[in-house]
Amino acid sequence: MSFTVHGIPVSGGIAIGHAHLVSHATLEVAHYLIPQQQIADELARFEAALTTVRADLEELRTQIPPNAPQEFAAFLNLHLMILNDTTLSKVPSEIIETELCNAEWALKVQMDALLDQFDAIEDGYLRERKADVIHVVERVMKVLLGQPGYAPIPDQTEEQSLILVAHDLSPADVIQFKQHQFASFVTDLGGTTSHTAIVARSLNIPSIVALHHARELVRENELLIVDGTIGMIIVDPDPQTLAEYRLRQDQWDIERQKLKRLRNTHATTLDHTAIELHANIELPDDVTDVRENGGTGIGLFRTEFLFLNRDNLPDEEEQFEAYRRVVRDMDGMPVTIRTYDLGADKQINGVEHSSTNPALGLRAIRLSLTEPQMFLVQLRAMLRASHYGKLKILIPMVMSVAEINQTIHYIAEAKQSLDDKNVPYDRKIEIGGMIEIPAAAIALNTFIKKLDFLSIGTNDLIQYTLAIDRTDDTVSHLYDPLHPAVLNLVAHVIKTANKAGKPIALCGEMAGNVELTRLLLGFGLRQFSMHPAYLLEVKQKVLNTNLNDIAPQVNKMLRASDPERLRSMLKRLNA
Ligand code: PEP
Ligand code: MG
Repeated sequence: MSFTVHGIPVSGGIAIGHAHLVSHATLEVAHYLIPQQQIADELARFEAALTTVRADLEELRTQIPPNAPQEFAAFLNLHLMILNDTTLSKVPSEIIETELCNAEWALKVQMDALLDQFDAIEDGYLRERKADVIHVVERVMKVLLGQPGYAPIPDQTEEQSLILVAHDLSPADVIQFKQHQFASFVTDLGGTTSHTAIVARSLNIPSIVALHHARELVRENELLIVDGTIGMIIVDPDPQTLAEYRLRQDQWDIERQKLKRLRNTHATTLDHTAIELHANIELPDDVTDVRENGGTGIGLFRTEFLFLNRDNLPDEEEQFEAYRRVVRDMDGMPVTIRTYDLGADKQINGVEHSSTNPALGLRAIRLSLTEPQMFLVQLRAMLRASHYGKLKILIPMVMSVAEINQTIHYIAEAKQSLDDKNVPYDRKIEIGGMIEIPAAAIALNTFIKKLDFLSIGTNDLIQYTLAIDRTDDTVSHLYDPLHPAVLNLVAHVIKTANKAGKPIALCGEMAGNVELTRLLLGFGLRQFSMHPAYLLEVKQKVLNTNLNDIAPQVNKMLRASDPERLRSMLKRLNA
């Protein structure tokens, strides 16, 4: 019987293939007593399993493909750290000895205790590390149960049509995918901030997370269609649906091929207005993707990713090297580097939240201003890198004049300390602010003069305008970029900036949503920054748009209040 399951789309495209279920060893574990005289053997069995997993992970670390994202090594290090921590490497042995139980049961008891502690954590990023603990325990469990430590990899020739269906996939599993050619993968768990979702985009195969029960509902080898663009799987499709999706898949492939031809074409509208299409990156390695997709600048470098999954902070030298690499690799094109947006869902190891609502707490520039030493290190590194190309500094989550004044003060201090040592930097470096708090959007006129440029962070602007936690699956269906309040705020910010003669970009996910390209152009936006994979599609839309034609429809959309009507107006705008 055919049915559909819906989740959160992570990577677009259509895959058609047979399900390969990734097993879950931890779900059912037997409990039995071990006679006192055999306890030493049971302890040795547990130790041997740990040793095997340790060796597996270390082996995997040596096999990381050169084109794998840098996070992979960090994930493996994290898993090794979890494995070696006494809570997993010693406590289960104590349970075996005191309760005279089998190793699998002792491991499960200890894992449950640990997971309870994770459940009590408010912070989304730390809570997602719970998944890493489960992955590590599963590996040990599989060895204890005599199963291979990794999801068995099918024959290379078969795998091109295989769709991996997992409850959750660890980043270490995803590393293996780099060397294989699966058609797609889908998981029950995972939010948009999970490691799996972060690395999934780099694989460029259709993938979906947060399907909730797909692993239970789908059977091994069952035929599946994965629509990674809308986040839906169709299980056991009827012949008609299958034929339709095969056609769509062919069309998608043809479109992707055609799009590649646009790589070096200037993004200019039919009425000859030049549009800048820049890219968002997380790590210096991402620049390759940006260049391959014809990005003409970096509109957002999320530098906080340099600070995650490690036990120390990157020092000035390390940061300088990273920023300089990006600036050099972009070869004179503009590079907008955001000061770290830590706090909320992105925490440095070992730092815990004291606030109940971290997204409303000490985050982004607020955190930087309370940690001047750490902030100055980053500012100096950025300023030094500015000597090697066109670098701009972007401040996340600005809200008030006072914050901007303080930031400018610290930038002046960083400049002074470089001057004292005769270290060169771009003396005309531009300072911009991210508009992602509704208050900043509404009161933009009160501080716009202080900034050289602006960038709208719609991911957060929508979160704060609609009071929707962007990391919470349970309210993700309410997260609506087309809400009239959002549209009016975005249009207001663009209009205010254009009137004041300040360059303005939009770097939230809205920028890469091709359905919204014309609407944003109609609002007066001339600079977009998005995930590199969306650049060519958006460029195509720009090339097919006449600004004079869309203006009246866009103005009407700003006055519309009925969401359904807005959606049909958007369809017409894109027709
Ligand atoms: C945003 O909020 O839209 C944005 C681009 O920043 P981030 O997604 O990193 O919060
Ligand atoms: Mg943001």
